[in-house]
Amino acid sequence: MPSLAALAGACFTGAGCGAGIVKLNTATVTPSAPAEEAPKVAATAAPSPKTDKTGGKTRIAQCNCGQLHLTVTGPDPERISLCHCNLCQKQSGNIFAVQARFPKEQVVIEGKSTPWKMSKDEADQLGYPNCVSLGGGAAFHFCPVCGSTVWYTADSDSARVGIKVGCFTDPTFPQPKLSGFESYMHPWALNTAELQVQHLK
Ligand SMILES: [Zn+2]
Ligand SMILES: [Zn+2]
Repeated sequence: MPSLAALAGACFTGAGCGAGIVKLNTATVTPSAPAEEAPKVAATAAPSPKTDKTGGKTRIAQCNCGQLHLTVTGPDPERISLCHCNLCQKQSGNIFAVQARFPKEQVVIEGKSTPWKMSKDEADQLGYPNCVSLGGGAAFHFCPVCGSTVWYTADSDSARVGIKVGCFTDPTFPQPKLSGFESYMHPWALNTAELQVQHLK
């Protein structure tokens, strides 16, 4: 089992994370220039959703640096999905992805984003079943400064905007109602409470 110090060096909790990554890379990698100048105002944790008199909520989703910023108003989303496919694993850098779709009129997008587009034909040629093939193509929008993928569009669902649930940083966000491509699932993925691990503080 790795030591706590080694785990801290890998850094997955946030504080001091940037410094840790630079230290790990300096021996063999020359950092490339950032795509753009870093924003002057650092991102802050998104506030808890605010509820209006009709039960509608205002939620904020944003990237790590904060320049890409989405404001979502209205009721909870009807489609919240969890996907284990290999494309979602690579695209998110995690072992599954969670996303919610909102009607376009509920979403205001501010800041710059770069789309990574994949057509259905391209997705079909990946050699493994994946959700982009199932959904008929998609465009994933990531922040050109910090790299967070925050939102996406699915070609088969032009009336809605998909948003990565992690970008809301809101533990009260409703749970997924759909789950796909479970044959790719890591066996412990949905049972982390049972993992025998050392807890970081
Ligand atoms: Zn960013
Ligand atoms: Zn997927």
